[in-house]
Amino acid sequence: MQSINSKRLFLDYLAPTSPEPMMLEVERAEGVYIYSPDGKKYLDLISGIAVSSLGHQHPAVLDAVGDQLRHHAHVMVYGEFIQSPQVELARNLVETLGIPDAKVFFVNSGSEAIEGAMKLAKRATGRFEIISCHNAYHGSSQGALSISGSESFKNAFRPLLPGVRLIRFGRQEDLLVISKDTAAVFIETIQGEAGVVCASPQYFADLRKRCDECGTLLVLDEIQCGFGRSGTMWAYEQYGIIPDILVTAKALGGGLPLGAFIARAELMDCLSCNPVLGHISTFGGHPLSAAASLAALRLIRENDLAGGARSKGILFSKLLPHPEIREIRHAGLMLALQLDSRERAQQVVRKALELGLITDWFLFRPDALRIAPPLIISEGEITEAVHLLHRAIDESREG
Ligand code: PMP
Repeated sequence: MQSINSKRLFLDYLAPTSPEPMMLEVERAEGVYIYSPDGKKYLDLISGIAVSSLGHQHPAVLDAVGDQLRHHAHVMVYGEFIQSPQVELARNLVETLGIPDAKVFFVNSGSEAIEGAMKLAKRATGRFEIISCHNAYHGSSQGALSISGSESFKNAFRPLLPGVRLIRFGRQEDLLVISKDTAAVFIETIQGEAGVVCASPQYFADLRKRCDECGTLLVLDEIQCGFGRSGTMWAYEQYGIIPDILVTAKALGGGLPLGAFIARAELMDCLSCNPVLGHISTFGGHPLSAAASLAALRLIRENDLAGGARSKGILFSKLLPHPEIREIRHAGLMLALQLDSRERAQQVVRKALELGLITDWFLFRPDALRIAPPLIISEGEITEAVHLLHRAIDESREG
């Protein structure tokens, strides 16, 4: 899988995030496959965690980035110069949203977009209480971590932000915790790291209503489920609600780093005064990322990749059943396969990698396997993936 030398250099020089990294050595990637230097190919079922929706090295993205690089790369911090990739992207994104008079604030990542949305919510409402959900993942920076829903992830880093209250995702009775003191509710439209958990349309309707009654902003985190993955361009379309602030990243950049928080002008404009320059970013909306994103957005819309995600998700769920898979939770091409234990999930992930298939588990659900392939995956590749996954389950048990 990798030469001894590159493995040693990786371990010696790169700061670790876990004691057991996957350590697949990558030479190149194309379509739904990643290739290691020894020529072995791996079917990518996780897209770099819901990022590479168009597959790897999509020619339209390569062309857009190359073309932009020949015009200009970084020329100024975000928000000062008129850079056409940013302007075009913002205009095209807004067309997909249904948020009236929306404006887009570009940043570089999901966590940064959450931080910006938190500041906007405080600035716009004059309140500081934020409500979020148990098992929510909103990012690793301190504000985003403060509103994430796992005590074990937070405890080592306290004190975190005050004024954060957690409610249970999908539980109507908890909505009464929202009050006139609440600046915003931050919620994933579909919980990702909790292992693909959906709530009912009625829940989201009630949540929207309660926020309106209390003057509380509803902030939807679609960093993982948005941009086509859930089977619609934005997952909230499936619930018939409109957020006050939408947060997006991951797939948004077409494989390059990009994040954004988006809100109607009336809210967004207050970030530019009292204080002036109260939220700024050097690299936010980098022209190369914006160009890649615009190419990705066009491809998703022109080829209805969101609709494709819906039917391909159904195909996966039809082919996947296996005696060891206890439950399949899915929305479009965002699937969780529930196994019996964390150990079994780890064994299957390791065996799958040996067989040339990349999957992993969820941060807050280590006993479930993640399937989030590029949206361009073909029916033949889905059949191949399921065959390899079943083999991985069977052969990891025997071994
Ligand atoms: N919110 C959600 C729902 C996510 O899935 C993630 C990343 N897994 C984030 C926020 C944080 O994004 P980033 O890693 O780009 O900071």
